[in-house]
Amino acid sequence: MKTIGLIGGMSWESTAHYYAELNQGIKKALGGLHSARILLYSVDFGPIEKLQNKEDWESLGNIMADAARKVEKGGADCLLICTNTMHKLTGIVEDAVNIPLLHIADATAQVLVHDKIKRVGLLGTAYTMEQEFYKNRLISKFDLDVIIPDEKDRNSIHTIIYKELCLGQIKTQSQKTYLNITKRLAEKGAQGIILGCTEIGMLLKPEDIDIPLYDTAKIHAAKAVEWALKYE
Ligand code: GLU
Repeated sequence: MKTIGLIGGMSWESTAHYYAELNQGIKKALGGLHSARILLYSVDFGPIEKLQNKEDWESLGNIMADAARKVEKGGADCLLICTNTMHKLTGIVEDAVNIPLLHIADATAQVLVHDKIKRVGLLGTAYTMEQEFYKNRLISKFDLDVIIPDEKDRNSIHTIIYKELCLGQIKTQSQKTYLNITKRLAEKGAQGIILGCTEIGMLLKPEDIDIPLYDTAKIHAAKAVEWALKYE
């Protein structure tokens, strides 16, 4: 089994789920006392969020490249960035190391293509929903048709992520807000919804709504399990 490298802590609430998912995935595949080989570098999210807010992607790139090098030096065989948003810095991270990066959007898009979903709604931080780095990858590499909520809805989604979910707060009112936004995307033709922020799966569960939800944290972790076991 290969060693899975993680850059986590963005936020640690979702990284904790990655840790559980990876171990459960290996246990399910190999049974008994088997568990995942993991190397985790977990950042202090406070300063990271401030730099995101200032759109200081250069400083963030330096932090991410440094974290990636540390994970590689520690002996990881592959690398996962445990947040959708920070995949904006994919190129910088890939250039910093020699181990492969398993991209969260690629893993998710592969499941969508398998499920024959063509038109998909995207929920995530404002950076993920509004900027090109994420949507363009889905469109150009996987030929998906990506729709995002309107501005007011995007603001609500973004605020709930940083003011509640990243702090571990799960509120019924916010769940309703997300469900209503999801319904509006379905009315616009979305056949499925990408939970394109690793904390959203804490708030929305597949049983809450009758449109398929694609939880990027779960899908990403499952992809890493598959990768780590390819070399068994
Ligand atoms: N975990 C989130 C994501 O998947 C947001 C936190 C961050 O800004 O990295 O985008």
